[in-house]
Amino acid sequence: MNRKLYDKLIFDLSCPGRRGYDMPRRLYDDIELPDAVLRQQAPALPEVDEPTLVRHYTNQSTNNFGVDTGFYPLGSCTMKYNPKINESLGADPVIAALHPAQPASTVQGALKLYRMLENMLSEIGGMAEFTLNPFAGAHGELTGLMVIHAYHDSRGDSARTRVIVPDSAHGTNPASAMIAGYEVIEVKSLADGTVDVDDLRSKLDETVAAVMMTNPNTTGMFEKNIPAIADAVHAAGALLYYDGANLNPMLGVARPGDMGFDVMHINLHKTFSTPHGGGGPGAGPVGVRKGLEEFLPSPRIRRRGDGSLYVEQTSDTALGRVSSWFGNYTVFIKAFAYILAMGADGLAMAGKLATLNANYVMNALKDVYLLPVPGPCKHEFVFDGLADKSTGVTTLNVAKRLLDLGFHAPTIYFPLLFHESLMIEPTESESRETLDVFIAAMRQIAREAAETPDLVKSAPHDTPAVHPDDTEAALHPKVKFSDL
Ligand SMILES: *Cc1c(COP(=O)(O)O)cnc(C)c1O
Repeated sequence: MNRKLYDKLIFDLSCPGRRGYDMPRRLYDDIELPDAVLRQQAPALPEVDEPTLVRHYTNQSTNNFGVDTGFYPLGSCTMKYNPKINESLGADPVIAALHPAQPASTVQGALKLYRMLENMLSEIGGMAEFTLNPFAGAHGELTGLMVIHAYHDSRGDSARTRVIVPDSAHGTNPASAMIAGYEVIEVKSLADGTVDVDDLRSKLDETVAAVMMTNPNTTGMFEKNIPAIADAVHAAGALLYYDGANLNPMLGVARPGDMGFDVMHINLHKTFSTPHGGGGPGAGPVGVRKGLEEFLPSPRIRRRGDGSLYVEQTSDTALGRVSSWFGNYTVFIKAFAYILAMGADGLAMAGKLATLNANYVMNALKDVYLLPVPGPCKHEFVFDGLADKSTGVTTLNVAKRLLDLGFHAPTIYFPLLFHESLMIEPTESESRETLDVFIAAMRQIAREAAETPDLVKSAPHDTPAVHPDDTEAALHPKVKFSDL
């Protein structure tokens, strides 16, 4: 069957008079509506029969690539498998029927789950308190920086106008610092990808509010100098922020709070297996060390002497709200289910397997792809394109050729430390067999780059959309049916 017929726009499949389903007339025949509210013309909706409609949408749904359809080694994003039990618990009708404005006495169980998840994250991160409210990692960063701002303000310390960010950082770090009202100062990385501690020290003074670090950093390397960095940051009166997007390999092994971090966020949609789908809904809970709890945003869930829970909307020192209601509550249920299903031992094993998988893939490919930062990595690693630069085949070409071979592309051109970054994160979800097929595909592409470079440069060949004009799409996006 030529599915291309059904890949047309649903409007192009329309034929006047065709019907998928007719409403029984008696349902609305008796209803009298005033003429003024009646349509003069029928709406311009597509008219299609039911099989056409079903085939159109079913085929559309298979044009997408997801972690349920194949291997998705998107570095930095931790596209681990999203267990289906999480989804069914999140969709439980009892939970779906809750309203966030219900009196606390009628939702004690839901409030308890919220508090328990906060406490679990505090234990995992080595922090005193967490809030679950922020909607994403970047939103968590902004919230964390606002907490830091509130802390300095509470001490009357208004001279701190700058935030230090390593040049290897995720782009959200400088963006969040700017939105929180800070000037961003960049600190260099050494050849091994870790932060240049001397450069960092030279930039620390009484104008610095915070230093943001990611550990392992975006090259997948563990930053060994955190205790020394924490001492220097604290001696300068600043706070140390942990971007927890890379917490996965640390689970049950090391805790940011123990290393000297003051504030952190966690991406539930990365480390704790909740879906990323289409940019959300996500959650970026924020944790703080002892002494900073009072600045966390509203609402807070508190316990009375009799053990019952209640919702405190604002306190004098808190930030106020950073989200509607309590944040993305169904995401919390999924992360909660995952943590309970894994248990402490399971989480620690997940982190170690993520590290093992990354090292396995890295070692199997490092003779044909350029490894700029050698040595064991944590949960991810970065190649600087193909080892043989003479073929003219770029990282973008490799990524597109991988689509033909049935894989989602890795993250490309990030981190910015290298020109041809190709960032691979297998996660712990993947079997040895999947990793081996991926390794074989990557080696095939390296071989093709040498023997038939045009085949790689003109990829992809087999995807539903082949060569869209990226520039045209960015400059003149066609976002409406009527633009097409
Ligand atoms: C994903 C990521 C973020 C941002 O998280 P979002 O949930 O996408 O906003 C921040 N830092 C790093 C290192 C990340 O990988």
